[in-house]
Amino acid sequence: MQQHIVIVGGGTSGWMTAAALSNHFKSEEIKISLVESDTIGTVGVGEATIPYLRYFNQRLGIDERDFVRATNATYKLGIEFIDWSAQASSYVHPFGDFGEKIGQDEFYLYWLAHKKNNPLADFSKCSTAVVAALQQKFTYPKSQNKDWQGYTYAFHIDALKYAHYLRHYAEKKGVLRHEGIIESVELSESGDISKLLLKNGQTLVGDIFIDCSGFRSLLMAGALNVGFEDWSRWLICDRAVAIPSQSDNQFKPYTQAQAMQCGWRWEIPLANRTGNGLVYSGAYMSDENACAYLKNKIVGCPLAEPNFIQFKAGRRVQSWVRNCVAIGLSSGFLEPLESTSIYLIQLGIMKFLELYSPKAAGCNARQEFNQVVGLEYERVRDFIIMHYYAAQRTDSDFWRYCSHMELPDSLRERLDIYRAMGLIDQYEIGLFKTPSWAAALIGQQFFPAHLQRRIADLDKKALLNLVNDCEHKISAYVKKMPDHKEFLSHLGVDQEVPPSGLNFYGVFC
Ligand code: FAD
Repeated sequence: MQQHIVIVGGGTSGWMTAAALSNHFKSEEIKISLVESDTIGTVGVGEATIPYLRYFNQRLGIDERDFVRATNATYKLGIEFIDWSAQASSYVHPFGDFGEKIGQDEFYLYWLAHKKNNPLADFSKCSTAVVAALQQKFTYPKSQNKDWQGYTYAFHIDALKYAHYLRHYAEKKGVLRHEGIIESVELSESGDISKLLLKNGQTLVGDIFIDCSGFRSLLMAGALNVGFEDWSRWLICDRAVAIPSQSDNQFKPYTQAQAMQCGWRWEIPLANRTGNGLVYSGAYMSDENACAYLKNKIVGCPLAEPNFIQFKAGRRVQSWVRNCVAIGLSSGFLEPLESTSIYLIQLGIMKFLELYSPKAAGCNARQEFNQVVGLEYERVRDFIIMHYYAAQRTDSDFWRYCSHMELPDSLRERLDIYRAMGLIDQYEIGLFKTPSWAAALIGQQFFPAHLQRRIADLDKKALLNLVNDCEHKISAYVKKMPDHKEFLSHLGVDQEVPPSGLNFYGVFC
């Protein structure tokens, strides 16, 4: 019998879900409806993405160049973190590796040993993505090139345009859109959600409900009363103000995240404008001061009035309960420091597609879904907290709190091992792999006290040769890359878009 999946919400998460489901299921099997309200609107700030979005688009059969044009996108090789240790410091967290693995060992371990003898050594020179980003260069990675050092890429996008693009895609595949405000939600005797009642008198009956209603979490929190795990003792920023501005026409192929007195400021270059915003803690800074500070930093002419957004870091205790799945902001929120929200939406969708069968939506599937989604949220959370903690800044009350706060056990243990011997544990499930942790820890001058003996005792000359060789290869490779601006203006017409080179649970494959 045909099942009916009802999606509540038409923001980035709603339309990503609708597009992926309509591509995955046959219409005889599943009918898909989506309800949204133009009166309520969307958050729609998500502009910086990470490389997994390429995998999502490719799976949907979306032509990447078409997507780049439709969303006013630019390419992104990583994030530049400014002032995240001493003031006037900077490093880039790239999409890619540092050097090449040596046997089973990650390159960063050898680099740390090299650094002991060469205090001025610069880790950033060992990453193609960082060197290219800082020279404002971009081309598609070509893994067949023998001098290639692994990198990949993502995009800066207009999230509202992306949602429109996916709406068009999903409607063409049969998704039915309903415009209206949901006034109430009815439960069956068993406690499942049975129907939605709209203000305009319409009723929507469904078998599965996907809650993409944003911070309201209309079904999960509202109808099913599922609790929220509050993480704001570790992530104390609870507000943002965003103002788009005229483009400076530089098109940096990276996002910028600059630490400031009570939070941090983002700058995201799109093809037609620049996204600017400030994430801050209301306990340490007023909205008025935040807005004034941001305005003062914006280079181009502002294009809209300031948009203030409030949030709380944390996640729903469970994201799949009964016949309801929460995806997007209704499932949790982590500040956009590492551009992870759209990834977490994608994760929820992919995991649902993997575990949901129209014939048997059992409780094992729900358990696995909740376990994986929960772990992913926690590991992204730890990675973000680490930035605040490892900054070791003490120049304001905000930073003194961050550098002295008690960490979650999972993060404390990870940092203890790193501090004691330089090791960064590689987990199976979880977005940020060892090179990302190494980039941020080394970038923030957070060094281990000791290295394992076998690494510390490596021959100095051999280490120097290894690092020099890596730096030379990268420098020669990047020299031949075109400018990002030039690449964008032709959109790489004479080059094949490479496969995403990613699968959902590995970094490169
Ligand atoms: P929303 O966009 O809020 O959509 C909710 C939908 O539900 C709307 O369509 C609304 O109409 C509908 N709805 C709600 N209630 C009802 C009702 N009663 N009846 C009918 N419809 C209803 N993510 C990134 O990946 N990268 C970034 O750089 C990034 N930056 C961010 C910056 C900030 C300051 C914030 C707050 C978030 C950022 N995010 C970022 C997160 C990103 O914006 C969200 O993950 C994304 O927009 C998804 O939101 P959503 O679709 O879950 O919710």
